[in-house]
Amino acid sequence: MKCRKCGAELHPEQKVCIQCGEVTPAGGKFDVEEERIWRPNARQLQIAGGLVALLILGFVLYKVFHVVPPEVVAKKWFETMLSRAYATADDHITSNFEQDLSSRMMDMRALAETWIEDITANNANYSFSAPAFDNISNPQKARITITIQSPEGQIVRQILLDMVKVGRRWKVDRAL
Ligand SMILES: [Zn+2]
Repeated sequence: MKCRKCGAELHPEQKVCIQCGEVTPAGGKFDVEEERIWRPNARQLQIAGGLVALLILGFVLYKVFHVVPPEVVAKKWFETMLSRAYATADDHITSNFEQDLSSRMMDMRALAETWIEDITANNANYSFSAPAFDNISNPQKARITITIQSPEGQIVRQILLDMVKVGRRWKVDRAL
């Protein structure tokens, strides 16, 4: 065994180098620093747990109280109709909508096909108007106009969507 500073021979038990005074491994000095592995203590774990719980609570509250705006529902619904996802589209309509459709001898499929035909035959685009609310402070009804337009700017069809708020959800109540 040699001194790590001056290279002098050391006895294994020797605690200090006689030549240079360097403390030897036997004297408690090690070349390799002890690795410090960070482990959270109980308090840090508690804080982390608390933060996670808060995040989850925030997410749940957001889900429960957040109202998806009618224009977002309208777009989602219209796109599910265009992709013929009737089961999903059904989730966004009221019973009133279905009654109105059947009174016009229509169903979701027939309605969707009309619009798909309008769009594909004219290579058309569609756009949504901003919602017109019945009441600004506490809206329960909204009307949104969907305009199907050809690339030349000709209006192929305008669909009037009557939206109604059912509980915390906006739903499509009528499409004319
Ligand atoms: Zn030495």
